Amino acid sequence: MAASRSAPPRPPALLKAHEDAGSAGVLPLFVIDPVLWKSAGPARRGWLAATLKATNAAYADRLVIRLGDPAVVVPKVARELGAERVHVTRETTPYGARRDRKIAAALNDAEVELVETGTPYAVGPGLITNGSGNPYKVFTPFSKAWREHGWPAPAKVDRVHWATAESDGRVAKMLDKAIREAPELPGAGEDAAITRWHEFLDDIDDYGDDRNRPDLDATSRLSPYLKYGVLHPRTLLADITSKSKGAERFATELAWREFYADVLHHNPRSAWQDLNPLGIPYDDPDDLFEAWKEGRTGFPIVDAGMRQLNETGWMHNRVRMITASFLTKDLHVWWPHGARYFLDRLIDGDIASNNHGWQWVAGTGTDAAPYFRVFNPTTQGEKFDPTGAYVRRWIPELGTDDYPEPIIDHKAEREETLRRYEHRGH
Ligand SMILES: Cc1cc2nc3c(=O)[nH]c(=O)nc-3n(C[C@H](O)[C@H](O)[C@H](O)COP(=O)(O)OP(=O)(O)OC[C@H]3O[C@@H](n4cnc5c(N)ncnc54)[C@H](O)[C@@H]3O)c2cc1C
Repeated sequence: MAASRSAPPRPPALLKAHEDAGSAGVLPLFVIDPVLWKSAGPARRGWLAATLKATNAAYADRLVIRLGDPAVVVPKVARELGAERVHVTRETTPYGARRDRKIAAALNDAEVELVETGTPYAVGPGLITNGSGNPYKVFTPFSKAWREHGWPAPAKVDRVHWATAESDGRVAKMLDKAIREAPELPGAGEDAAITRWHEFLDDIDDYGDDRNRPDLDATSRLSPYLKYGVLHPRTLLADITSKSKGAERFATELAWREFYADVLHHNPRSAWQDLNPLGIPYDDPDDLFEAWKEGRTGFPIVDAGMRQLNETGWMHNRVRMITASFLTKDLHVWWPHGARYFLDRLIDGDIASNNHGWQWVAGTGTDAAPYFRVFNPTTQGEKFDPTGAYVRRWIPELGTDDYPEPIIDHKAEREETLRRYEHRGH
């Protein structure tokens, strides 16, 4: 057995609220922000809906769900309750941080304080700095400093006194509709997340070997739970007791998540702009972009990945890299077009990991990622899906006349990319 298993933790913000409110009670509130709800594709919306329903069930129907602009809704609920303080987990993404500043200002007008505690990370973005007090720009030294910094044990709360209020009357129908319209999704909520984690933990020692194989179920698939804070990375890190290479590698992957959050925190503009612009021209998205989105490029590993995304709201990491490379380096489309498409559809869609993952592939992001490296979709497929099981699973018509011919010549487009790099800035 690779682990000691802890009881489900609670977010540090809840612990703080509990200590603060005592017997007056804590009201668990979730506000559905229409801006985010509308931009989400069916899988993403369904995943949020299923997560909220499972969380509500775990809180014995006490979760209050309201709909509307959080800067209006949160002060309104605080007034209804006569609350003196609102506790949240600190947001560090550009949109979330802006939204929370607005909420804090609106609450302040009502003489209610917004208290931010913890973050969805083992070490909060902004806390790791180098010897000169500056943020790290490269992953490896960051991850070393991250491990040295360490993190506290997960927060535990025994019994919380709950306050009560009504959910918005429209919410129940909205969630049910979103779940109906979504594809089949993993089990939602904390119990499902913990079950998946414990299953994975039994095999964590093998993680290093097979993590690049999309045809195998060799990764944790915890990203959708981490995305909504259903699981906290400190819970995962506290449970890992194995010193195997696989366990080390898994912690390193969590460190990537923390690194990208840190980079985005320090460079909010890099959400949708190049962190390190290459100064090369890109092509406007056209019908080739449509073929990429629909998984009709004639390159099986690219098409399988896009279909996995479209049909399930998730894609294997190796295939995310291959499909992103294909869009940016074979079709010469600027990465934000692809990142937007991913973000709206992925059930783990996260602005920091997604948009910096894209920039890593495009060569405009952190690390001296070799921008001239162009994945060959055919050899990548042969190497990481050696029996073709992955591509056959997602492309039933593979090998028949119904499957399209390649929409581009990879060798020629690779040369075109290198030509653009050579002439950059001209
Ligand atoms: C173009 C592109 C887009 C991506 N978009 C997202 C996204 O929107 N949301 C997201 O969570 N991850 C994203 N990733 C990172 C990675 O693909 C996923 O985290 C991973 O596939 C999730 O599967 P898993 O939980 O089984 O991962 P595991 O292999 O089990 O890894 C464990 C955890 O480590 C973290 N992690 C692993 N790899 C990375 C990575 N490269 N960058 C950041 N964190 C990582 C995740 O939280 C993951 O759940 C993207 C990567 C690329 C190349």
